[in-house]
Amino acid sequence: MDENDVIAMVKLNGGRVTMPRRAILKSLLNAKEHMTAEELAKLVREKYPDIHISTVYRNLEELEKLGVVIHTHFLHGPATYHLESEIHVHLVCEVCGNVAEVPLDSLNPFIREIKKNFSFSVNPKHFALQGVCSICAKNSEN
Ligand SMILES: [Zn+2]
Ligand SMILES: [Zn+2]
Ligand SMILES: [Zn+2]
Repeated sequence: MDENDVIAMVKLNGGRVTMPRRAILKSLLNAKEHMTAEELAKLVREKYPDIHISTVYRNLEELEKLGVVIHTHFLHGPATYHLESEIHVHLVCEVCGNVAEVPLDSLNPFIREIKKNFSFSVNPKHFALQGVCSICAKNSEN
């Protein structure tokens, strides 16, 4: 996935490609970590100081409506943003706060089972799964 792919997706989903949107998508592509809207706005404004912070927030929302960007919550923290094309399931350790990323497919058996037994469609993208990571599990044994 590069900048052109993401831009193509905005157009495909009926969105306009404006300068602020381009800047947001670029920043998301370059992001190595999960970013809150605030962190993302800061990153955008480091390179594009003319873009107002509220413009970043508004466009982030619009890109989400277009299905290009998606947000996830970790524990009680604020939402963090991803490109929809790069979404994965998050495993968050409730002891140390470490976040692991696993493929969306890894939840398929669980999602199918819930659907079959309870006619409920699980959305695994919006919230992280909470638990205890292997390191913390080990520490609590001692
Ligand atoms: Zn993630
Ligand atoms: Zn942990
Ligand atoms: Zn949310």
